[in-house]
Amino acid sequence: MRILIVEDDPNLLRQMQEALVDAGYVVDVATDGVEGHFLGDTEPYDAAILDLGLPELDGISVLKQWRESGREMPVLILTARGQWGEKVGGFDAGADDYVTKPFHMEEVLARVRALIRRSTGHASSELSCGPVTVDTSSSRVTVDGNLIKLTAQEFRLLSYMMHHQDKVCSRTELTEHIYDQDFDLDSNTIEVFIGRLRKKLGVPIINTKRGLGYQVTAPGEAAD
Ligand code: CA
Repeated sequence: MRILIVEDDPNLLRQMQEALVDAGYVVDVATDGVEGHFLGDTEPYDAAILDLGLPELDGISVLKQWRESGREMPVLILTARGQWGEKVGGFDAGADDYVTKPFHMEEVLARVRALIRRSTGHASSELSCGPVTVDTSSSRVTVDGNLIKLTAQEFRLLSYMMHHQDKVCSRTELTEHIYDQDFDLDSNTIEVFIGRLRKKLGVPIINTKRGLGYQVTAPGEAAD
């Protein structure tokens, strides 16, 4: 899962970036509204965290422009304490949720998880497919209840496909959602990760759709 953070306070930005990376997300950052708007408008994100008080272009304008150009990723806005008008303005501009500064990092993480879950149509924080379960709150993966150790990239790849179960995900799509903007896209890498994931999981939940990509489906269910 790939997240965009737009925040001009360097300390806060670094703290959020570290916490999200630790939680298994790939993170792009911007420190002003113009750069933030550009990234959100051109890169595929699974969620965005947007400060409202930003240099160059304010957060509400950034959000409005994203929504006007059809960008649908869930957006968590960061509002200043006591500024209730910011929350109203933020929701009217297309925000999905908010946190008030100062906040606990755990709250931001929980809200981001919930936003991604809801936007991909899941009610529970545990995503299951046959014997495989991904617990999105602890980043743990189990097969038949046994814990499986995955690398950060393998986890991101599995987590993305589990959030989008039954959907055929192209290699480009997978690459875009598990690497940040600085990564040189080479979709063959995905094939290698898929091979390792299949081996570690040991159960056939990842189908190859020739020429199209990959699809996570419960074993025994029709793969079309
Ligand atoms: Ca700010």
